[in-house]
Amino acid sequence: MDYQRLFSEIAIELSEIDDLGNVASYIPELQNVDPKKFGIHLSTIDRQDYSFGDAHEKFSIQSIAKVLALALAFELEDDQLWDRVGVEPSGSPFNSLVQLEYEKGIPRNPFINAGALVICDILVSRLNNPQQEFLEFTRKISGNSQIDYCSRIAESERLTSFRNAAHLNLMKSYGNIQNDIEAVLDFYCHLCSIAMTCKELAQGYLFLAANGVNPITNERVLRGSQTKRINAIMQLCGFYDEAGEFAFKVGLPGKSGVGGGIIAIYPGHYSIAVWSPKLNKKGNSYRGMQILEFFTTRTKSSIF
Ligand code: GLN
Repeated sequence: MDYQRLFSEIAIELSEIDDLGNVASYIPELQNVDPKKFGIHLSTIDRQDYSFGDAHEKFSIQSIAKVLALALAFELEDDQLWDRVGVEPSGSPFNSLVQLEYEKGIPRNPFINAGALVICDILVSRLNNPQQEFLEFTRKISGNSQIDYCSRIAESERLTSFRNAAHLNLMKSYGNIQNDIEAVLDFYCHLCSIAMTCKELAQGYLFLAANGVNPITNERVLRGSQTKRINAIMQLCGFYDEAGEFAFKVGLPGKSGVGGGIIAIYPGHYSIAVWSPKLNKKGNSYRGMQILEFFTTRTKSSIF
């Protein structure tokens, strides 16, 4: 398969369709990105790499980082983790508070904000310096010491995090947050501010396509069975109330972020990262989903 040519064809076809949606603005710093950015990077488990467009430019990965937070918490807690967070799709927006009260402070899954905040609480309890140790974990599993937080974005989210603070307060009232709310919120905002390129994302998350071992670093991140579980949660919950649509159109486990990035995994084969900042109404990259729909259809590489 000539992937390079396929990427060019996808770019041409998509340029003929309007890029609907809007760049995220509820985190003020995210508005400053050029809405026309368009990047793709494919990494295969047999060590081939293909880049297209703005694949080497860093952007805010936002909720895509929740996958790595889950991986680290899963490594530390193993199956005890599931006492505090579920594995069911929420069918609700990523920042919805509604279910949390009905379900007594136990979030549906680790990828909605409530669930990711519980994961952050666990990491704050477990690690001496969560911010530093999480960054080291991310750098180690990616084999890339260039990955870092963006303090501008972290600060911008921190100053407008009223809804995430509400999640934490509600969960604390049910006993599902153990640490100081400010400390957990600060760690969460840093986590979401991580800046990576499409290439760094595809290579860093390749362990999810390779049974838990990153083929680039030969580093085992998780056991095979844990990797299977993370992919399953990505499939069911990675796009919140649009997870069905993503499965329907793309057919791979994936995770989006409000910075306009998406990572998708084809277990046993490849990881692919795309970036296009304009978001649809559900907060997922409008064009990013189209790129992946074209890609898996043309390459016949969906898990279904
Ligand atoms: N940091 C963002 C928030 O909490 C992450 C949301 C996302 O990327 N879907 O709102």
